[in-house]
Amino acid sequence: MNWDDTADDGTAERLVGASTDREEQAVEAALRPKDLGEFIGQEKVREQLDLVLRAARARGATADHVLLSGAPGLGKTTLSMIIAAEMEAPIRITSGPAIQHAGDLAAILSSLQEGEVLFLDEIHRMSRPAEEMLYMAMEDFRVDVIVGKGPGATAIPLELPPFTLVGATTRAGLLPPPLRDRFGFTAHMEFYEPAELERVIHRSAHLLDVEIDPQGAAEIAGRSRGTPRIANRLLRRVRDYAQVKADGVITQEIAGAALAVYEVDNRGLDRLDRGVLEALLKLFGGGPVGLSTLAVAVGEERETVEEVAEPFLVREGLLARTPRGRVATPAAWAHLGLTPPRSSTGGNGQQDLFGA
Ligand code: ADP
Repeated sequence: MNWDDTADDGTAERLVGASTDREEQAVEAALRPKDLGEFIGQEKVREQLDLVLRAARARGATADHVLLSGAPGLGKTTLSMIIAAEMEAPIRITSGPAIQHAGDLAAILSSLQEGEVLFLDEIHRMSRPAEEMLYMAMEDFRVDVIVGKGPGATAIPLELPPFTLVGATTRAGLLPPPLRDRFGFTAHMEFYEPAELERVIHRSAHLLDVEIDPQGAAEIAGRSRGTPRIANRLLRRVRDYAQVKADGVITQEIAGAALAVYEVDNRGLDRLDRGVLEALLKLFGGGPVGLSTLAVAVGEERETVEEVAEPFLVREGLLARTPRGRVATPAAWAHLGLTPPRSSTGGNGQQDLFGA
């Protein structure tokens, strides 16, 4: 395996953020399911992928290109490695932002071995010229390498060995249709159910040699935002706490106390999420308020609020995006233990939005 690139989205310090440092990547690698049988949940995707891979193996052919969409930490990288393992093929890992020029992509493609799996994370962030080169590579296993500049430039065709592209994106809708259409198999990964996350946690605890009881696993699962990566990360922090403050065994009580220390609340909101909600409720009476104003109030970049905190708050039904701005839902008031202002006095319109 070959890591060409490390994602860095500046959220390393967040317990619920993306995976950024190498140490964490090493732990993640150790916890990764190695085959489809070990992969928990995502039943439909697993079943369909199993058929695709079996059929390819039976034909003695390279598997079709696969597009995986879904939020960070749901197992896209893991699945790409499983695809390679099931096809007994090597894998190369890179990402859209690492491919700035078509030449970067040409260099990678031309060095692939026959049958190799190329995992292209954040495929929607590839540059336009690279994307166009990829169309031809996916369809005809061929690229045109442009040599020279201006009128004297010539295109030299280069044959590629058959390979399997596994593209990953947070949203398939971000991909231009011509690219999307070139994938033979497209799978959307859903957030995990609490029971599935409990299985992930028990499995990881076993691999990390940590003792955990069912209630302890349930407590961590409930705060993991439907995401195995976060479940594994919270498990490791709770393990630390259990070792230092108790006898090392993770119970519900230990898990709750540990996650209180790390400021991850009982619904999985961390300090940033709560800060956004608190500002929205306490400073703006529940909204509507513009995103930029809200971001200034919490002392964060607009993008951080929009891309990091909001998707989860919206999914949890705590915040709504409306044409007039961000609005807290009744559930947000309840979660923070605050009473919403009466619509007749508040006059901010949020009660009307929810028909309360
Ligand atoms: P993504 O590429 O979607 O961001 P990863 O494949 O890197 O996510 O998964 C993050 C972590 O979560 C990995 O360490 C992996 O062990 C764990 N994980 C993801 N999906 C599963 C699953 N279905 N079963 C068990 N562990 C999983």
